[in-house]
Amino acid sequence: MIDLKAFEVWFLTGSQHLYGPETLEQVAVHSQEIASALDTSPRIPTRVVFKPVLTTPDAMHTICMEANACDKCVGVVAWMHTFSPARNWITGLAALQKPLAHLHTQYNRDIPWAEIDMDFMNLNQAAHGDREFGYIMSRMRLNRKVIVGHWQDPEVHERLAVWCRAACAWHDAQGARIARFGDNMRSVAVTEGDKVEAQMRLGYAVYGYGVGDLVELVDDVTDTDIDELVHEYESSYKIAPDLLPGGERHNSVREAARIERGLRRFLDEGKFKAFTTTFEDLHGLVQLPGLAVQRMMAEGYGFGAEGDWKTAALLRAMKVMSAGLDGGTSFMEDYTYHLHPEGMKVLGAHMLEICPTIAADKPRLEVHPLGIGGKADPARLVFDTAPGRGINVSLIDMGNRFRMLVNTVEGVEPDAPLPNLPVAHALWIPAPNLKVGAAAWIYAGGAHHTGFSQVLDVEYMADFAEMAGLEFLLIDETTNLYQFKNEMRWNEVYYLLEKRF
Ligand code: MN
Repeated sequence: MIDLKAFEVWFLTGSQHLYGPETLEQVAVHSQEIASALDTSPRIPTRVVFKPVLTTPDAMHTICMEANACDKCVGVVAWMHTFSPARNWITGLAALQKPLAHLHTQYNRDIPWAEIDMDFMNLNQAAHGDREFGYIMSRMRLNRKVIVGHWQDPEVHERLAVWCRAACAWHDAQGARIARFGDNMRSVAVTEGDKVEAQMRLGYAVYGYGVGDLVELVDDVTDTDIDELVHEYESSYKIAPDLLPGGERHNSVREAARIERGLRRFLDEGKFKAFTTTFEDLHGLVQLPGLAVQRMMAEGYGFGAEGDWKTAALLRAMKVMSAGLDGGTSFMEDYTYHLHPEGMKVLGAHMLEICPTIAADKPRLEVHPLGIGGKADPARLVFDTAPGRGINVSLIDMGNRFRMLVNTVEGVEPDAPLPNLPVAHALWIPAPNLKVGAAAWIYAGGAHHTGFSQVLDVEYMADFAEMAGLEFLLIDETTNLYQFKNEMRWNEVYYLLEKRF
């Protein structure tokens, strides 16, 4: 569903006419070679497209306007092979609306100790040319990512690949449509927020529907469609005999399939990329959508429960960033704690809606009572999550800004089996430990809902936050609560001043 090769980043090289045509030809040849190496790098998910060397303010402005207008272009990568007087860049950079990465590289990896002469010195000037370019971006308060190192260094490709993925997620959010069935869970605060501000700042639009609009499509689903989907379930999951065709409780699975078909049609026809449900508004649906939500998330849709559109949009961005990479990303909730002094940890789960991309093994399709919402027993996929490093991410509305909060976590095995837990779940130790990690999260106002990922790390989210102009707070192994609280106080001042830039 998400194909990042459909997108491009443009490789822009700045120079000037001071050195004569031969040097400029050399610059172009080198720049093409670098762009081509990045384009074919197996790490970089998008195309990297070389653009002719830029030497005048008009050319720089034109290329930035073209990048803005190009629907495939998710961002631009700039490099100054020679010195490129940066006042020439002001008009172009002021107009640029796409994310910007500054690749601070050099064509030659090594200084040619024996041969180096003045011709070499006139050509290989990134060490000072890129400083001039850096100054103007700082002077203009432009958010960007600076990546330093030789262009053949795999680590440089990795840094750029992360930025490309974040740029794709940012591009994906612009004009994205998010559907809500019902409103927020009544009286809940953290899942609320300013949808107008979100559309202005983050690019996506949130549309509300009565659940009856969905029910109409669910009621239209034919028995043949349901049979087909049930067949797919049988081949994809472990299913108890009484849930199989002819089994006593098979009808619950058929109802889940009916909801999935209807939901899929609604989202397809409306070109939605993410959606929310709420157990408080299910009129006309026989059961809370569980299995359907899990399967839509696995395909790359964003989701937030209880009307949480911010987390739905965040999860969609995380799905785009992680497209094609190994490891899962899911909607998540900090559910309950293990506070034993030797091994404090968090059990993460939800009523039903955890994405099977984080499943350690083949999920089990099960039907159990929900104990909330007063509907029929819903079908859901139940599984454990593989241990390993991960992140939890929350996006909250602070009133004058959106705040992104990231906590690095270590996924762990359960201390013992959980035979009676009827929902998919994950266990983790938040960094630096549960006491400090949870305290910092709570001081920051982080939500109980998160985007949980075993494939993305801090850098992806930081790059995305930079593009989006989000406040970014990190809780990791270095977190000190005194400093963390000060950082938030300083940020309060920054975001009051920020709109003046
Ligand atoms: Mn919840």
